[in-house]
Amino acid sequence: MPNVDINQIFSIIPNIDASEKALIEKAYNFALKAHNGQLRKSGKPYFTHVFQTAKNLADLGMGPVVIAAGFLHDVLEDTNTTEEELKNEFGEEIVLLVKGVTKLGTIKYKGIERNVENLRKFFVSMTEDLRVLVIKLADRLHNIETLEHVRLDKQKRIALETLEVYAPLANRLSMGQLKGRLEDAAFKFAYPKEYKEVYKLLLDKKGVDEKYLIEVKNELIKKLKEDHIENSNVDYRQKHLYSLWKKLKKYDMDIGKIYDILALRVMVDSIADCYHVLGIIHGAWTPLPHRFKDYIATPKLNGYRSLHTTIFTGTGGIVEIQIRTYEMHREAEYGIAAHFAYKENKNINIQQFEWVQELRKLNDNNINKEKPEIFLKTIKMDFFKDRVFVFTPKGDIIDLPEDSCVIDFAYAIHTDIGNHTQGARVNGKNVAIHTKLKTNDIVEIQVNKNTNPSSKWLVYTKTGLARKHINAYLKSHSLLSKFLSFGKN
Ligand code: MN
Repeated sequence: MPNVDINQIFSIIPNIDASEKALIEKAYNFALKAHNGQLRKSGKPYFTHVFQTAKNLADLGMGPVVIAAGFLHDVLEDTNTTEEELKNEFGEEIVLLVKGVTKLGTIKYKGIERNVENLRKFFVSMTEDLRVLVIKLADRLHNIETLEHVRLDKQKRIALETLEVYAPLANRLSMGQLKGRLEDAAFKFAYPKEYKEVYKLLLDKKGVDEKYLIEVKNELIKKLKEDHIENSNVDYRQKHLYSLWKKLKKYDMDIGKIYDILALRVMVDSIADCYHVLGIIHGAWTPLPHRFKDYIATPKLNGYRSLHTTIFTGTGGIVEIQIRTYEMHREAEYGIAAHFAYKENKNINIQQFEWVQELRKLNDNNINKEKPEIFLKTIKMDFFKDRVFVFTPKGDIIDLPEDSCVIDFAYAIHTDIGNHTQGARVNGKNVAIHTKLKTNDIVEIQVNKNTNPSSKWLVYTKTGLARKHINAYLKSHSLLSKFLSFGKN
């Protein structure tokens, strides 16, 4: 048996006490016995899979109850263990977690519409207890990291499912570290040719970038000391391969245009220190224009906070620097898991995540139940795709799916404004209504009561909301004109 020493897990959990150890050890022994004799496709004992799942959960900062459920996550589905037995041994809470994971396990995404009902169930069950989803993600991570042992056609399906369903969910839960690991492991099975290409590009470019980075890093550490920034940490991270590929596609695969393959990361104690560090950096190096992003004042939709800036090193290089507090870093890496880490806080208020409410509303909508393809499309457009954030003249933020245009924005403000949009001023310039919006645009809609939606608008719009109102208008309008012309004939 490969290394399944329980001390590996104990050592990850800070300040673990005797009763917590006892619970984890009990689950460990129970699973070891229940899966006895079972093998994985790799030929290794099945227990190695549940061990790695539990270890992934410990890595994500989860507490003893969730780690124990990780050990037990496959016993109901794959062994003779009954629900009754599990309940007697471990109690109601762990049974509910294991049942939740088992239920999610029956759902397979095939990227086609007939599975949409399952996809929907997946989301609904997930929102009952988010800890179930975290266990499922930890389970998927080990499965995807051992995917080479699985049949070739299955490999492709599982890899795509990981990229299109699981990784976006990890992202929505702000679990950056998990999202990156899921994507990179799935990338090489889903798109093997592209994976190799990106990997080669990365190796060629990385060495050069690293030289500039170390240069700036050493200089910056000195300057932070001079300015008495206490307890700072300067390090760097490499961009995950899959997100590098997505970015390369936007830049015609020109790696010379990508400045954040490696990025310096500065961590400090307070928000005030973040802006202080930014001042030090911009005082010492010239920033590239239009590259500074303040995600502290304006966090991303998934809650991500940091300051990003890109500087000329002065020696021919360009380096991206990210500045954040330790707390922001923890949230960016572990996301929602950071909220129930250690504390086992199961009463976390998931309603604070606006998108959870959005999903619930989609599920409540009867129209969507009748037409699964519409549901799938809405999900894919509004939920999975990247978002753009634009501003009203008053400074309110409207978030829209990528490639949204002026009309989408107008309907997001108000139906009446949408229905009478004639044009817009974007960043002070007059533009046409089909103009696509970019993050940070300031948009002022110009209305004209004589302007009305036309079928052409459906070609330009991306949001479900705008299309719904345009269709409603067109439908009532065509009925009305039929009615009016009736008398004339
Ligand atoms: Mn499993």
